[in-house]
Amino acid sequence: MKKIIIAIDGFSSCGKSTMAKALARNIGYQYFDSGAMYRAVALYGMQNGIIADGKIDIEKLRGAISDIKITFSTDENTQKPITLLNGVNVEDRIRTLEVSQYVSPVAALEFVRTALIEQQREMGKAKGIVMDGRDIGTTVFPDAELKIFVTAGADVRARRRYDELMAKGENPNYDEILANVVERDHLDQTREVSPLRKADDALLLDNSNMTIEGQLQWLCEEYKKCIEQ
Ligand code: C5P
Repeated sequence: MKKIIIAIDGFSSCGKSTMAKALARNIGYQYFDSGAMYRAVALYGMQNGIIADGKIDIEKLRGAISDIKITFSTDENTQKPITLLNGVNVEDRIRTLEVSQYVSPVAALEFVRTALIEQQREMGKAKGIVMDGRDIGTTVFPDAELKIFVTAGADVRARRRYDELMAKGENPNYDEILANVVERDHLDQTREVSPLRKADDALLLDNSNMTIEGQLQWLCEEYKKCIEQ
């Protein structure tokens, strides 16, 4: 059967990764979370004295970028995808609010994007992948056969992130999360390199009032239409 690249882009915390993972599982594709890669770079900076006290040492990060290798694997117990930073499982550590606060300025750096985009294109070489992010359909895989752009209200997205952190046993603050979601939207849309925007040929999905099942059904139908063409 024809194998394609599926690019799912959109605003932060709009459920892209839940949808993308479910779709990949359903159609037997590999799932890649490009946001996790930017998060892992931010974490690397925090762990190596490059990012601290609200500041990023850009020259140090530039010097270190070629030492940062991000890969993905599957947790043997949960069967969920996990992110590896230079071979170490950092899946939980990259999801903290501290990493979320640093990730957008890190992702706005051109040399960071160049390095990660190269790794992302390598992941898509054999096709048969679902990748989610902000610039997958516009920059990483502009020729992707199926492109989806997902959006939902900022309040809906902040509530989803809040529930996610609560479920993990953390003690999140809703207002802080909402402020972070709004700030990241702004930074992601206004940065000079690869800003977040819908590709002209992407299908728009506003999932504010949709169930996960409803979204998956819609996605599977779009996938079928695409491979039958
Ligand atoms: O998807 P997630 O919210 O985990 O992504 C974290 C951050 O990484 C985003 O807010 C954005 O700044 C950045 N990102 C990006 N390009 C991508 C994926 C994520 O700039 N393709």
